[in-house]
Order: sequence, then C-alpha cells, then structure tokens
Amino acid sequence: MTTIQQNLTSVRSQIATDAQRCGRDPREITLLAVSKTKPVSDIEDAIAAGQLAFGENYVQEGVEKIQYFTRTAADTPLEWHFIGPLQSNKSRLVAEHFDWIHTLDRVKIAQRLNEQRPAEKAPLNVLIQINISDEESKSGILPGELDALAAEIASLPRLCLRGLMAIPAPEEDFAKQKAVFDRMEQAFLALKQRYPQVDTLSMGMTHDMDAAIASGSTLVRIGTAIFGARDYGPAQ
Ligand SMILES: *Cc1c(COP(=O)(O)O)cnc(C)c1O
Repeated sequence: MTTIQQNLTSVRSQIATDAQRCGRDPREITLLAVSKTKPVSDIEDAIAAGQLAFGENYVQEGVEKIQYFTRTAADTPLEWHFIGPLQSNKSRLVAEHFDWIHTLDRVKIAQRLNEQRPAEKAPLNVLIQINISDEESKSGILPGELDALAAEIASLPRLCLRGLMAIPAPEEDFAKQKAVFDRMEQAFLALKQRYPQVDTLSMGMTHDMDAAIASGSTLVRIGTAIFGARDYGPAQ
C-alpha cells in the first residue's frame, strides 16, 4: 500500500467513526478527494484504492487531468467536481468537462453554464456556495440571497440543482465549527423541502471534517489528509 492508499483508508475510517458517533449511516457521506496541485500519479494511486470522485480548483489543471484519465482510464467511472472560484470566461471549460460545480454564486455564470453544457452530457450538477461566516471572502452568496438564486438555477434545464456548499472561515474549536455548519444544515433542509432533487451538502475539509459530519454534511472535500501538504511552488 502506498502512503496515499493508507491515508484514504484512515480518512474513510474517520468518516465512519464520525458518522456512527452521531447516529448517521457512513454511506450517506461521499468522500471527495481534492487533488489540486497533485500529479496524475497521485490520482492513479487513489483510483487503485477505489476512490472515484475527485475535486479540482483550477480550470486548466482540472481539464488536463480529466483529459488524461479519459485517455488512460476510459472504463473507470470517475466523477470530477470543480470546487474553485469560477470566472465567467472559463465557464465553457467547466460546462464541457466537469460533472459537478460546487461554487456557483452568480446568475450570470449559471446562465452561461446552462447554455454551454453539451447536449450529449447529463445536466451539470450544481451546488450553490454560501458565504456562511467568512467576511473576508468574496466567494459565495449571503444566506438571504439563496431563494432567488435557487429559483433561477432550478429553471435552467441543463443544470441540476443538488444542494449547497460552504468554506467557513478557519476555526480550530469544534463547537464553533459546528455552530457555523449547523446554520448551513438549516439552509440545506429548507432548500430540500422545496426542491426534491436536492440531496448534497458539501462541507468539511481536513481540519473541520468531524464537525461538518456532525452537522449533516453529505460530502466532505479532503485534500491534505489524503495527498499530503500542497506545494504551490515559488511565490509569483
Ligand atoms: C483545497 C480545498 C479543499 C481541501 O482542503 P484540505 O484542507 O487540504 O483538506 C476543500 N475544499 C476546497 C474548496 C478547497 O479549495
């Protein structure tokens, strides 16, 4: 077993422990392996250990990896999630290559993705990013803006509204992490009542996965605990 495969095993068992602690079925929680900045050989290691869902933050890098695996692993049912901020001039690449986007926060980009999603592909799965606690961040809508954006997205036939995503401001204390995630869960449950296809609450990273699962996360986005620390190269 490689280090990545050992890491995957321990992340999966931590998910199971977290789920059982709060009476949830671990199978309700999808593990998204966040492979940004990591080479395709690391992704191959993870695939060999049964991991199929991968998250990428940078459009170009993500598309190159998707194309690589379309060539080399066409029979493996991989799922690619775009989880980075999206500028409208890059929306076409996301619409053409990815299966999911977690960071939708503008009507204009929703409309572009809807127009650009190729007819032969299933509708693009969409999560709305909520800015739940991070006043510094420009990404995500405020909770009060959710109803309007959700209605807009739900009206677009080439998009499928699946739920919500958040990246809370970094916080080390479990109770404080959970208080923020609980607000996301409330918004998610309300959305789910209105849109039956809504089933995904994307929250929890390496440092706050336990609290996210305690608050009902159905998808955790884990990079460091699987692939190790990221090296972004020399400062630009
Ligand atoms: C990088 C990233 C992750 C993974 O973070 P880790 O702390 O390495 O687990 C998850 N979600 C998003 C949106 C990210 O950008």
